[in-house]
Amino acid sequence: MLPSLTRGRLLAATVAAATAAVVVSNGPVAFAAATGHGHAGHAKSVIFINGDGMSAAHREAARLYLDGLNGQLTMDKLPVSGQLTTSPHDPKATVTDSAAAATAWSTGVKTYNGAIGVDAKGRSLPILGQQAKAAGKSTGLVTTSQVTDASPAAFFAHTTDRARQDDIALQYITKSKPDVILGGGEDWWLPAGTPGAWPDKPAEDTTEESKGTKGNLVKKAQAAGYQYVSDAKGLAHARRGKLLGLFGNEEMFQQQAEGEGDVYRPAVDLATMTRKALDTLSTNKKGFFLMVEEEGIDEFAHHNNGTRVLQAMASLEKAVKVARDYVAAHPDTLLVITGDHDCGGLTVEDAVADDETGTAPSTEDGPFPVKGSDHTFVMDWTTTEHTGADVPVTAVGPLAEQFTGKHPNTHVHDVLARILTRKH
Ligand SMILES: [Zn+2]
Repeated sequence: MLPSLTRGRLLAATVAAATAAVVVSNGPVAFAAATGHGHAGHAKSVIFINGDGMSAAHREAARLYLDGLNGQLTMDKLPVSGQLTTSPHDPKATVTDSAAAATAWSTGVKTYNGAIGVDAKGRSLPILGQQAKAAGKSTGLVTTSQVTDASPAAFFAHTTDRARQDDIALQYITKSKPDVILGGGEDWWLPAGTPGAWPDKPAEDTTEESKGTKGNLVKKAQAAGYQYVSDAKGLAHARRGKLLGLFGNEEMFQQQAEGEGDVYRPAVDLATMTRKALDTLSTNKKGFFLMVEEEGIDEFAHHNNGTRVLQAMASLEKAVKVARDYVAAHPDTLLVITGDHDCGGLTVEDAVADDETGTAPSTEDGPFPVKGSDHTFVMDWTTTEHTGADVPVTAVGPLAEQFTGKHPNTHVHDVLARILTRKH
């Protein structure tokens, strides 16, 4: 962890840079209003969106597929863009996992792969989900992964090992207390032998069954004031107030190898969960922090499965539209969209007959149609693992201009903290 004096200096430097940026770039007030730029003084809330495993090529493949040669994704239309490097501080690894990357976002500290809200020595760090709460804001997390998976966990829990998802769930309801928790992973909230709303050993994946070791955390959550819902209807009818929704045993999709039971069909889509979370969180006059994640991009990229990656990208894009509409009506809210790391070493290529196609599972996927044209493209993979390729970051709203240029991923923390740790 940085000594607090150094941290203070860094923050002061960032504030000075922001002031300079406003002077240089703002121009007429009308421009500021039109682009959604503003300064921290107007900022109350943050929507932070992670396309897990999403780097520039994933965005380009989705752009061609969903919007065509002259089109643009909503996530790419945001007025500010930059790049983030993602390397961890890990004694054994050069390339990050989701845990170290999300901890960098949540704490501003680089750490080892597998760490959730702790530094390289395993010491707990202040995390943005708790700091936002302490500042009087509402908080929430929405994901198509387990709600206790690494990326959301790093904002709302501390553990030296990301695999302890039942402990992470317990910390949610006893310590960080996010107001809205929506996603998959019911297996971690219930002890073995208590299947819950999602049956043990379902046909689509017979390895899934309740496996928590911390008691019945769904009951405990209800006792702590959470409504519990487990399907689309329940979510639609849920009242405002503390809300726990678990829409699958594990991820909200089946991440088996390509052609072997891979399915991307979440019980509730990411956009619907995002809308519900915003409905609830936006009632707090002091603002909110919402973390949104599409996990399918990463997990299907690990399988080098282009078709499913494009489905997950479409899901993310729909959720981004919900967030973008919200921010258009609420200029006090910063919206940031990025990925935690590349996954798959993806490239976008023309379908040419004499190109290499790789060996399974990394054979080229496609050809996929380019929307509104007679063109096609293929998705070519170089690895089934994460890579160190930069990730794009796009943003709109107060402090968005801070994301211009190229920064380490800890920069996300330094910008978000300026809004989320400030009391109104
Ligand atoms: Zn990840």
